[in-house]
Amino acid sequence: MIKDASFENISEFNIEKIPIVSDDGLVLDLEEKKEIFHRLLEAHKLAKINVEMGNITNRGFATYVCTNKNVWSLGTNFNNTRNDISSVCGERSAILSAYNHALVSYMKNSQNGFDFKIKYLCMSSNIDINDYYDFIVPCEDCLSWLNTNRCFDENTTIFSFVRKEDGILKISATKLEKLLPYRVNLTSNKYSKDKKLKITNIAKNSLIKYQIDEILINKILLKTYEAYKNNNLTKISGQNIAASILFNDEIITFSKLDWTKRWFVEPLEHVCADAMQKTEGNLEIKAICYFGDEYNNSNIKDGVVSIKTLGRIRQKHANSGTLLILNLEDEILVTTIGEYLPKKFVQGYKI
Ligand SMILES: [Zn+2]
Repeated sequence: MIKDASFENISEFNIEKIPIVSDDGLVLDLEEKKEIFHRLLEAHKLAKINVEMGNITNRGFATYVCTNKNVWSLGTNFNNTRNDISSVCGERSAILSAYNHALVSYMKNSQNGFDFKIKYLCMSSNIDINDYYDFIVPCEDCLSWLNTNRCFDENTTIFSFVRKEDGILKISATKLEKLLPYRVNLTSNKYSKDKKLKITNIAKNSLIKYQIDEILINKILLKTYEAYKNNNLTKISGQNIAASILFNDEIITFSKLDWTKRWFVEPLEHVCADAMQKTEGNLEIKAICYFGDEYNNSNIKDGVVSIKTLGRIRQKHANSGTLLILNLEDEILVTTIGEYLPKKFVQGYKI
């Protein structure tokens, strides 16, 4: 049985009065708001059951997704072992369910065509509705998965319950693209020492904090480019990438290597692991630089930057102010992890 005080009184929620928190000024009509509220509650209920049934992380997340064809599908996190490849988060689970549903519908009746886009993700966790605080966002593994134009577009919206900061139950609405702001900002594999640096205001603060000047930025970029140029281990995938990090006063670099077309050693994760060993775990990464080939083949877009790795290192050895140096077509962009991935997913797992 679900033991959650808030469930006993669902009918007492005055949904009309529940505020919607949205940076984009999103307005929903009452019927749609009711629908989203109930989908969030259902997802919450499923997340609780998932934990009660022994999900090994002791945390439950569940998501209801709605496609542009207004078909709703529900999924919860599936954590089979502690090996990260055997875990699927709630939102990915729901998207898979929706995708299979859409394919089966098309298989049975192809008259309406196949156009699969996700309109809404309604994300809940197993935490008691009374104890919700911050809104829920996809983790960095999921953001890596969502970082495509194929199944999502600029309207895809994430809903969750939130009580921040006044304790009042609200519905938060966030556009997916807000969490992936550079999704369309492709990097370039053309090096030129004459490109201008574009430094964001937030990045300027980090430059002061870490005492990094433009000469050092160009040095990191050149070192990354040299590693890219000299790398011969990505012939299988045809997508060459190099990454560098600056820590203490040292720059170290690593280049991608392929096992198969889709399985490879991610250069940033490798270079960070190397620095971890060198510093015996006392690693503080000041800056990251990527140089590489965007794979941009019609509807498949593989980014150069690994969102998954940024999420891994931000857990401890990097932070939102860590600089990110990216070689774009006409300029060198100097930004931060916090601007690149603005909302951090809070793990909360016991294992
Ligand atoms: Zn996830």
